[in-house]
Amino acid sequence: MEYISTRDINKKKHNFVEVLLSGLAPDGGLYVPIKYPLVSAYLGKLRQLEYPDLAFQIMSLFIGDAISELQLRSILTKTYHQDVFKTKDITPVTHLDDHIYIQDLSSGPSLAFKDIAMQFLGHIMDYVLQENDQTLTIVGASSGDTVSAAEEAMRGKHNINVVMLTPKTGMSPFQKAQAGSILEPNIFNLSVPGPFDICQDLVKTLNRDNTFKQHYNIGAVNSINWGRICAQIVYYFKGYFSVTSDNSQHVDMIVPSGNFGNVLAGYIAKQMGLPIRHLIVATNENRVLDTFVKTGVYQQQDVIVTSSPSMDISKASNIERLFFDLLDQKPSDLCEKMIEFETSKLLDLSSLHDRLKNHYGFLSDDSNHDQRSQVIQRVYEDHRYIIDPHTAAAVKAAQTYRDNTGTPMLCLETAKPTKFEAAVKEAIGFVPDRPKGFEGLESKEQRFFDIDASIGSLKSFIIEHF
Ligand SMILES: *Cc1c(COP(=O)(O)O)cnc(C)c1O
Repeated sequence: MEYISTRDINKKKHNFVEVLLSGLAPDGGLYVPIKYPLVSAYLGKLRQLEYPDLAFQIMSLFIGDAISELQLRSILTKTYHQDVFKTKDITPVTHLDDHIYIQDLSSGPSLAFKDIAMQFLGHIMDYVLQENDQTLTIVGASSGDTVSAAEEAMRGKHNINVVMLTPKTGMSPFQKAQAGSILEPNIFNLSVPGPFDICQDLVKTLNRDNTFKQHYNIGAVNSINWGRICAQIVYYFKGYFSVTSDNSQHVDMIVPSGNFGNVLAGYIAKQMGLPIRHLIVATNENRVLDTFVKTGVYQQQDVIVTSSPSMDISKASNIERLFFDLLDQKPSDLCEKMIEFETSKLLDLSSLHDRLKNHYGFLSDDSNHDQRSQVIQRVYEDHRYIIDPHTAAAVKAAQTYRDNTGTPMLCLETAKPTKFEAAVKEAIGFVPDRPKGFEGLESKEQRFFDIDASIGSLKSFIIEHF
C-alpha cells in the first residue's frame, strides 16, 4: 500500500514506515492510503478469526511489504494479548437492552481506547527504529488520555524517549498520577505553568523548527498518526462480528468523538465493505462536529470545558481526511479549502452534505452534562453497568436514533469510569471500584520536571537530556 499527503498536488508516494515515523506530512497535510482495500468478499473468513489474526488480516492490507509478515504477526500477538487488555476478546461486547450494545475499548493499561492503537505504535516503532538503528524523541502535549496511553505504550522502549507537556493545574489528580507514576528513565513528564493551550503552542512552535527537530530526532504520536488510525479499523470489524450472525446484516456504530480519529477508522472500515449502516458521531457541548454532520458547515469555535474533557476540541485534527474524500481526493481543491479555513475558521461543504449523510452514512448527536449524568444513572440502575461521561454521550445518541428495524447499535466505550470518578459519583452517588492495580494510585511516587512556559526552556530541556 502506498500513501499520499492530502495537500500534495504532485501526489508523491510514501510507504507505511515513512508515514508511521513522520506523522504530519511536511506540506501540512495528512497521509492517506491511495485506495481503500475492499474486503467484502472475505467477511466470512474474517468472522472466524481471533483478534490478533483479524488485526493481521486487516492491517497487513495497509502495511504491505513495509514490514515482513513474520514480524507483523509477532508484533500483533504481543500487542493484542490478554495480559495487556484483560480478555482474549480484547474488545468484548456487552448487551445493554433492545438492540443497544457496548463495545469495551478501554480495558488497556491506561483505561482509555487510545491504548488499542498506542500499544501497537509502541511495538512497531520500537521494531522499526531498532532495524534502522535510530532513536526518536516523541514530544507531545495533552491534558487528558493521550499522555498516559503514550507513556504506557513507550515505557522501557530503548530507542524511544517520551516528553509530554502537561499543565501544572487542570489535570485531575488521577490523570496526573497515571502519568507521573511512570518512572522509567525514558519517560519525561514536563509540568508547565499555565493552561493546556500553552503546552500545545510550545509543541507546535518546536515542530516548526525543522533544523532542531532533525538534529534531535523529534517525532509525534498524536491522533493524526496513520499507524493509530490503521490499528483502530480492526475493532470495528470485531464489534460487527460480535453482534451479527451473518454478513448480510447491518449495524450502527456510535462513537464519542473529539479529534475524529476513532470515527474516521469506522468510516474507513465502511469504505472497505464492512456493513455499517450509520456512523453516529456523539459530541458534548462542543458541537463543531455535530453541526458539521448535520449541515456540512464546519466552523471552529472556542472550546467549552466539560465533564467529558477528551471531547473538548474545537478543531478536529483528523477531519481533513474526510474532507479529502468529500472533495474527490483532489489535493488542489483541498489546499484551496484549507487555506480558506485557516483565515475564516469556516469551511462550507453544505453542497456535499447529501453525500456525507446518505452515501457515507454519518449522523450525529450532541449532549450536555445533565443528559450524560442521567444516562450514567439510568444505565447503572437498569443494568448495573457503570459507564463514563464519554461513553454516556454515545448511549444518549443511540437512544436518540434507535428505530424499530432491530439494527444492532454498538456504542463504543472509550474510557473506564475510574478515569472520571467525580462526574460518575455525581450521577450514581458513589465512586465505582477501581480496576485491579489502580487502587491508591495517587499515593504512588510521582516524577515531574518543571520548565518555564517558554520555547527556550523546552529546547534547553531537550538539549540537556538527549
Ligand atoms: C480521545 C478520546 C475521545 C475522542 O476520540 P477522537 O479519536 O479524538 O475523536 C473520546 N473519548 C475518550 C475517553 C478519549 O480518550
